[in-house]
Amino acid sequence: MSKIQMKTPLVEMDGDEMTRILWAWIKELLICPFVDLKTEYYDLGLKHRDETNDQVTIDSANAAKKYGVAVKCATITPNAQRVEEYNLKEMWKSPNGTIRAILDGTVFRAPILVNGVHPTVRTWKKPITIARHAYGDVYRNTEIRVPGAGKAELVFTGEDGQEIRRTVFDFKGPGIIQGIHNLDKSIESFAHSCFQYALSVKQDLWFSTKDTISKTYDHRFKDIFAEIYEKDYKADFEKAGITYFYTLIDDAVARVVRSEGGFIWSCKNYDGDVMSDMIATAFGSLAMMTSVLVSPGGQFEYEAAHGTVTRHYYRYLKGEETSTNPVATIFAWSGALRKRGEMDGLQDLQDFADRLEKAVLDTINSGVMTKDLALLYEGEAKAVNSREFLEEIASRLA
Ligand code: NAP
Ligand code: MG
Repeated sequence: MSKIQMKTPLVEMDGDEMTRILWAWIKELLICPFVDLKTEYYDLGLKHRDETNDQVTIDSANAAKKYGVAVKCATITPNAQRVEEYNLKEMWKSPNGTIRAILDGTVFRAPILVNGVHPTVRTWKKPITIARHAYGDVYRNTEIRVPGAGKAELVFTGEDGQEIRRTVFDFKGPGIIQGIHNLDKSIESFAHSCFQYALSVKQDLWFSTKDTISKTYDHRFKDIFAEIYEKDYKADFEKAGITYFYTLIDDAVARVVRSEGGFIWSCKNYDGDVMSDMIATAFGSLAMMTSVLVSPGGQFEYEAAHGTVTRHYYRYLKGEETSTNPVATIFAWSGALRKRGEMDGLQDLQDFADRLEKAVLDTINSGVMTKDLALLYEGEAKAVNSREFLEEIASRLA
């Protein structure tokens, strides 16, 4: 059998612990036997990040910018305990934070659905993808605990000396106040990422805020999305047969619960924080959640939504068998290979990504799965270890 050829390398960002083990097995069993894999490899394992003073993370993000598609393994974000465990020179920053700062993107999270694991909401038949704006609002707030009577004002002083002043409240007694902000530039990037992602997966895009109450702040989000849609995306959306739809957040919540799924829901920072946990839990499991960072420059970085599964790794190191679920990491690879195939016009690479995902789903639908899924599965399930699960998928793929 001749292997599928690639044109441009994928940016491969290796990671830590149990997911690093799965990473190597996925390549060995599911990718390399079928694809003449071309990658530019960056080792984001904590040890190598420390050796390079985290330069490797920066280099990998710049490579993603250059080539357009990256696939990332889960990585440790060091805390005090990790500094000791790995004898680190410094408590390096979160790699995802560093990569996001360089690519300036939005993260889209979508569940992978299988027969036998049913969403809590009965009407949901297709995945719902959450796109969360990741800048500002309550996450960058300034707050005051008001001690007693007095006047609270909102004051903006321009560099040119211009002053804008509004009364927040005339306090007669103690209370609280909060100041939040956002940037046109950040909202614009968010909007571009959402529209581009909707086009790339050919799904409708919903966006919701509370603009009836927040007539300046939330309304600015609504206006920026509307302007960018009209100017840059309307024609492409019509051609792709998808729609852009704005509604109030409370109306959106009601519609989401009544829907069949199969769309992207863009949310402001706080709404996205809350709603993504709700969506993930209602669909089943974090081990079945994919995640992709889309930059306004049109670059894509695929990963699993879960972490390095430390507890399983320590068991693995002791020589014990583990049944860690590799599905979200496999889908990170298939997502990246499909996107690379699209960008390079390689139909057989795109078809391979489809077959790989189908082999994973067929395996689970036949009742063979890792332990975490077997616990949620309604029906006769055979729980296997990670390696056996991957071998089962490989045999279907072959
Ligand atoms: P985690 O790795 O997601 O694991 C938490 C627990 O969820 C696991 O102990 C396991 O439960 C279950 N789980 C998660 N993924 C699973 C899978 N694929 N298969 C089976 N079970 C799975 O989160 P964490 O333990 O909080 O974090 C571990 C490390 O990951 C940390 O160092 C953190 O910094 C890092 N992290 C990285 C990323 C990223 O790179 N994107 C994201 C989050 C966390 P049981 O033990 O009950 O089986
Ligand atoms: Mg949260």
